[in-house]
Formats: sequence, C-alpha cells, structure tokens
Amino acid sequence: MGETILMDKKKYGYVFNIQHYSVHDGPGIRTIVFLKGCPLKCQWCSNPESQLSHPELGYNPNKCIGISKCLRCAEACVYGAVKQDSEENDKIAIDRELCEECMACTKACPSKALEVFGKQTSIDEIIQAVEKDSAFYARSGGGLTFSGGEPLMQADFITEVLKVARRRRINATIETCGYAEWSQFSKVCQHLNSLIMDIKCMDDEKHKKFTNASNELILENFKKLVVEFPNLPILIRTPVIPGFNDTKEDIQAIVDFIKGHSNVRYELLPYHRLGQQKYNYLGKKYPLEGVKLDDELFNRLKVIADSLK
Ligand code: SF4
Ligand code: SF4
Repeated sequence: MGETILMDKKKYGYVFNIQHYSVHDGPGIRTIVFLKGCPLKCQWCSNPESQLSHPELGYNPNKCIGISKCLRCAEACVYGAVKQDSEENDKIAIDRELCEECMACTKACPSKALEVFGKQTSIDEIIQAVEKDSAFYARSGGGLTFSGGEPLMQADFITEVLKVARRRRINATIETCGYAEWSQFSKVCQHLNSLIMDIKCMDDEKHKKFTNASNELILENFKKLVVEFPNLPILIRTPVIPGFNDTKEDIQAIVDFIKGHSNVRYELLPYHRLGQQKYNYLGKKYPLEGVKLDDELFNRLKVIADSLK
C-alpha cells in the first residue's frame, strides 16, 4: 500500500486489465485499459476487482492444485491467512480478516491460482500495448478506450496518456460513470475523440440504494458536458437492471433528460452476470444472486430508448 502513496500519479496508474480487440466499447476495434478505483458500488458490477483503488488479492480455486500437493502459499504467508478450505476440500481458503495483502503468496503460487488485481503501469506500457493493435484501428476506426472502475478517479494519469495518444494519432475515448469533480472531468474531455457515459436512473433514492451514491453530480456533469463540449460525440448508456430501472417510466425519464442535443446518442445494455465468479475470487458475495432480465421487457424498453435516434 506504501506504493500507492509514493507513486507519481501523473506517470503511473493502477491498471487491472488490458483487453485487446474489443468491439463493444467505442467505435471500431479497440484496446480497453481497465483502471482501478470507483466512487460507486453498483450491485450488478461486472468488474468487482475494479472497485477499490489499491491492488487486491484474487484467488481462483479452480486453478489451485491442492494443499496436500503444494502448500507453497501457506509457507509464504507470515500472517497465517492461508488455510485448508475444509476437511473434504483440499483447496485453500484465504482468511480475509488476517490477510494483509502483502502478495507474497501470489509470487509463490505455481499455478496462478493466486493473483494480484491491479498493477502499477506507466504511460509507455499503455501506449506500447495500444500501438500493438494499431493495424486494426486504421481499418476499423478504432483506438484506445479507458474503462474501469472509473477512469476519472485517475484523471491526472489518463490526461498524460491521452496527450501522448493524440500526438500518435490514436483515437481515444473513456467509459465513465460520470461521478467526478467537473474540473477533473473537463480536463480529460479536452483530449477525447468521443465519450461514453452511464446515466443509470433519474430517481435519486433508487440510485443511492443500488449504486451507493447520489445521481446529482452525474446529472449536473451531463448538463455541463453538452454546453462545454457541444461537438464531442457522447454515447449515454443505461444498463437495464431488474428491480432498479426496468420500467418504461425509468427509461422515458432518462430519454427526456438527455434529448435535444445533436452530439448525444443513447443505448441500453441488458443486465448480465458475466462478472459473478470474480466476487468469489475476492471473497465477496454477489449482491444480485438469482436476478434475471426478461428479454421481451428489454426489447420493449429498447423501443423507448431508440426513439432518441
Ligand atoms: S496476500 Fe500476504 S497476507 Fe494475504 S494470504 Fe497472501 S501471503 Fe498471506
Ligand atoms: S500455492 Fe497456489 S496451487 Fe499451491 S496450494 Fe496455494 S493456491 Fe494452491
């Protein structure tokens, strides 16, 4: 954790994944850089390893070869946080109360069952990873997308990366939850080719309950965005979550709020459970266990959203 304090926040960021050849997060084929840290805690979050700003210990029991054959993590852990899962189960279990996240066990583990989510990453490392895919950008109109977590929590760092990206003619966008100080938000927008932002719900009480934060700052930021960046292509997205924002009224309220701007498009995303297993890896409980989205309902909501096109 000392590393977090000493790190030069303009030169290094905390990244937990770099994904190549994505076609879902901005125009064309893109390289997605996922950053640690988020001010929200959405119950459906598919990247729970992004939520905290510092590196976290992840454990995938499917990769563990078993404590009777290995035991290297237990030997490496001076805090006594590695235990056998149970008498019947030969895999390990991490006692998160005892774990100090020193990460010694991740270095000892031969099968990568233990890994660190979040790595200090330099501007050059990101640019190099992104430029590997440059042949695909030229043909598809793609580029670099910062995602997360919430990229604006590392606004100083991504601003520096975006300056380099612009000099190298790399098309750049970010995916943001919109919850950030305007000074940070506007600083980053100056270097973008486009922006993807969530507006999840207009009802603040529901917003607080499902995301752990008010929507006030997000809605204020949208109003400022369309005034100060009238030529920046903006895609507003709403993940449709059963029991949260899956009514006609919810979607219509968002349409009414964002309509009337030629640079703003709107899209709904269906709820999915792709990140559910990662909650287990982090020793956390998935908040929306058993929830399922009705496809027909989603299609009806999509008609309302498409009225903005
Ligand atoms: S991260 Fe450190 S304290 Fe936690 S289980 Fe691994 S070795 Fe033990
Ligand atoms: S070091 Fe890795 S493979 Fe070995 S027991 Fe620990 S988690 Fe399992």
